[in-house]
Amino acid sequence: MALVANFAFDAIPLEAEVEVPNPFIARLGKLPDWSDLDDYQYTITREEFTYLLNHCYARNQEEEYRDLIRIEQDRALILKQSNHPASGWYDLRFRTDSLISATPKRYWRAPTELDGLQPNSTRPLKGVCIAIDPGHIGGRWVIWDDRHFTIGKDTIEVREGEMTLTVARILQRDLSLLGATVALTRNGNHPVTEDRVETLQEEARAYLRNRNKVPSSGAIAKTAKAMFAISSEIRARSDLLNEEFQPDLALCLHFNASPMNMRRPSFQGPNHLHLLINGCYSRGEIEEDDTRFEMLLRILQRIYYEEVRLSDAISRTMKFETRLPSFSYDGTNGMSVNNNDILWARNLLANRVFMCPVVFFEPYCMNHHEVHARVQAGEYRGLREFNGTYRKNIYQEYADGITAGLVNYFRHRR
Ligand SMILES: [Zn+2]
Repeated sequence: MALVANFAFDAIPLEAEVEVPNPFIARLGKLPDWSDLDDYQYTITREEFTYLLNHCYARNQEEEYRDLIRIEQDRALILKQSNHPASGWYDLRFRTDSLISATPKRYWRAPTELDGLQPNSTRPLKGVCIAIDPGHIGGRWVIWDDRHFTIGKDTIEVREGEMTLTVARILQRDLSLLGATVALTRNGNHPVTEDRVETLQEEARAYLRNRNKVPSSGAIAKTAKAMFAISSEIRARSDLLNEEFQPDLALCLHFNASPMNMRRPSFQGPNHLHLLINGCYSRGEIEEDDTRFEMLLRILQRIYYEEVRLSDAISRTMKFETRLPSFSYDGTNGMSVNNNDILWARNLLANRVFMCPVVFFEPYCMNHHEVHARVQAGEYRGLREFNGTYRKNIYQEYADGITAGLVNYFRHRR
């Protein structure tokens, strides 16, 4: 067909006539503003971008993202809306050797960017801004996230959300004494988000439809529950963290548990420790527009390197304090990192949307009999005997593992 003068106007239908599918985004995810990547133009080389994407972030390398992120010689083209190619591609230009790299835009500071320390300083964390995220919620809210159970008669209920807050408060005290500025994403047993399960029913229905799932009343109830206790709560904490605290690093505190029948909780065999950093994205995750965008921000800010160094240091002191064996992922959702058997990469909501280096802790199986006994003992001074060994209280031990690692790390690196 010959081109005519008014070709452009005839060929492109009016915007209203084009049917644009609902974007594919994570639960309660925000639509990305792709122009936010403008700050990172010409800041990363093709080699480094490809390395981080293939070896740290995408689970199965190139086939996972080829139609979503196209790596060309001088640029990466990133599809803006995965289910609507007409939305166009974001054009990220690579740095070439002739251009000198500036520090990419970010709020967090690496240890080398902090003031140096006096020799033998008693405040090795001076000036370091640390956010602590006590995982889950406690109190009457425990019913929404299934991280609570009782084993045995006349025992205290195990509640992960309250245990993580206990560790967070010890850490806040101890890290402050060492000079750090510490902020907690939650300092009580109540949610940070203002959403509630009842207010999320419509969102849950829309989410299920968007995923081509039948919005049955059971599915809506289940989705709304997860939206409240996980998505909305973590996103509210991430707004606080990214907009107000803007820390140099974040510590996400959790306790682990072995699978068991929640209707009949019982002791389980293994007890172990692992730490997580962000990475190991599946094809389905990279397909989500917001998740793809957040992954790219982490790549462009070079968060990975700082996360590995920091977690590597803390994993050693955690192992020493807790005396726990390492945990192994046998499936595909965890990727081993740095030849360290305690350190794994996983894409979780908190370690993706907290836009700074995040160390995510998963020590102690709460349904292991020894951990359970130590939880029953609560906080105490000094040492007590468990199975023939004298131990600190479990919360102080957890906190000491982290504190010692941070002290070692910052003494070495700044
Ligand atoms: Zn947890």
